[in-house]
Amino acid sequence: MFETEVLVIGGGPVGLSLALELGLQGRRCLLVERHERVGFAPRAKTTNVRSRELMRRWDIAQRLAAASPFGVDYPSNVVFATRLAGRELARFANAFYCAPLRDERFAEHAQWIPQYKVEDVLRGRAAEFRGVALRFATELVDWTETAGGIDARLSDLCTGERLDVRAAYLVGADGARSTVREKLGIRMEGRSPLSQHHNIVFRSPGLAQRHALGPAVMYWLVNPEVPAVVAPLDTGDLWTFGCPKLTIADANPEAMIRAALGLDVDVAILSRDDWTAHQLVAERYRAGRVFLVGDACHLHPPFGGYGMNMGIGDAVDLGWKLAATLQGWGGPVLLDSYEIERRPIHRRVVDEAVINLGYTSHKLVLEGVEDVTPAGEAARSAAAAQILDTKRREFDSLGVVIGAAYGASPVLGDEADVPQIQEATAYAPSARAGARAPHAWLSDGTARGASLFDHFATNAMTLMATRGLVPDAAAAVRATAADAGIPLAIIAPRNERLAQLYEASLVLVRPDQHIAWRGDDPSEACAMLLRAAGHGVSRPHLTTHRPPSDGPSPKEEIE
Ligand SMILES: Cc1cc2nc3c(=O)[nH]c(=O)nc-3n(C[C@H](O)[C@H](O)[C@H](O)COP(=O)(O)OP(=O)(O)OC[C@H]3O[C@@H](n4cnc5c(N)ncnc54)[C@H](O)[C@@H]3O)c2cc1C
Repeated sequence: MFETEVLVIGGGPVGLSLALELGLQGRRCLLVERHERVGFAPRAKTTNVRSRELMRRWDIAQRLAAASPFGVDYPSNVVFATRLAGRELARFANAFYCAPLRDERFAEHAQWIPQYKVEDVLRGRAAEFRGVALRFATELVDWTETAGGIDARLSDLCTGERLDVRAAYLVGADGARSTVREKLGIRMEGRSPLSQHHNIVFRSPGLAQRHALGPAVMYWLVNPEVPAVVAPLDTGDLWTFGCPKLTIADANPEAMIRAALGLDVDVAILSRDDWTAHQLVAERYRAGRVFLVGDACHLHPPFGGYGMNMGIGDAVDLGWKLAATLQGWGGPVLLDSYEIERRPIHRRVVDEAVINLGYTSHKLVLEGVEDVTPAGEAARSAAAAQILDTKRREFDSLGVVIGAAYGASPVLGDEADVPQIQEATAYAPSARAGARAPHAWLSDGTARGASLFDHFATNAMTLMATRGLVPDAAAAVRATAADAGIPLAIIAPRNERLAQLYEASLVLVRPDQHIAWRGDDPSEACAMLLRAAGHGVSRPHLTTHRPPSDGPSPKEEIE
């Protein structure tokens, strides 16, 4: 019997992030993954601003930058053209905010990097923590929940050996076809399938030099014959090609790619796979000591690059809460708040991704768009106008990426009870309870670039005094924390803008950099510290319990 604190099922980016977060918090976990997860699967290429902020918190943002196949300076343009060798229609510069510029709004730029490289970096960092054990080629078979924890049965897929594990908690980070979700009988709610797609990874020596559109992270090819998206993936002339599944069904894929590019180039196909677009969220994320994170509880189209990134956010939210509970300072409602906080974020992002799905390449094609005639010119102008109008929110979505604030939650100040949803393309810093803390660069000369976020504690609550420290206030909050055993850091960064940015003299920041409370009254800060740690007075309207639904089950062909 192997004993651990958290058993994580699934070694994708979300399971790895959870293991890493638990390791950072000093907890023990065992992560098991059925496959070796080597080789390139054509999944995430966008690691967004928020994920890289969290990676900075894990001390791996620089490592990820170093793993970048084309360097972080590579221009993150998204170009729309009829073909790679065709006519340009429109372009977006600095898509996803990948440019390595110092921006007041965030601590880290985004990055264009294949998912398998992100996973390498996450895996390497997770393995550095003594409490974290990673085991590949190992599968969860079954488990039972006892009064004290989870008794799980695993199978070593190389030897066929059975492995018994006892853990306090079990987390299903096991993807779209989640075994954990299935065994719990938790249904996915929503619509599926929305559409079917096909992805190809191919090698084409010298392709980057064979066209005149300049460097970009994606080329959207808007033509009636083979509408598609082609994107540089990795060094060694590796590219990805994505199109509707129907387009490729009976075709010679090499010829299809050449036609889409409008270039007679060498194409060697390395891998192909189908994927389905869904609009699904799990009806529950928790059953007793078992939780769901990542694709196991939300599935949506990849346009906008949200799936992995949102799952990394799940891992941090659940990770610090599990750790606080295991350390004994997390109160009874802390773990309940995971689903309460994350579900509205998931719904928002799923809907946003479905909006983006409405404007894929083949839907942007206008009649005559390739014609060399005045009518063709007019069609291209109309296509360009439509692209600029509809696609910006896909590549410029800080309002979703860092503007997402948690709503009513048993561990947040009452301010969070009033929903706050930002426009996708218009992020406005907000310091209300539930929001990701507004970012600021400080001029205190710290080695890591003086981000305010570097001053927040990663495994404790942070009380930030924005107008300088009042010793009596600090002493009162420190005494409350000590009595309740809540780890607390108190900071008073020297920056005149903070009081204005946070609109309060005292701010309680959680280990995940979200604001639990802000105000001016130290006695309120003491009460809110207890609430933020999950010891608040019960608020019955904030519960994860929902009556069982008799509604029709959505078609669950999850690929
Ligand atoms: C074409 C495409 C492009 C995408 N682009 C982006 C993007 O740019 N940005 C972005 O953020 N997201 C993107 N995504 C989404 C992203 O790939 C997923 O959201 C992400 O992989 C989900 O990670 P996960 O760890 O939750 O699940 P997965 O990556 O699916 O990992 C789950 C793991 O669990 C393992 N497992 C399952 N059952 C068991 C069991 N019983 N025992 C042991 N192991 C088990 C599986 O083998 C699997 O390895 C894209 C997806 C697609 C299809």
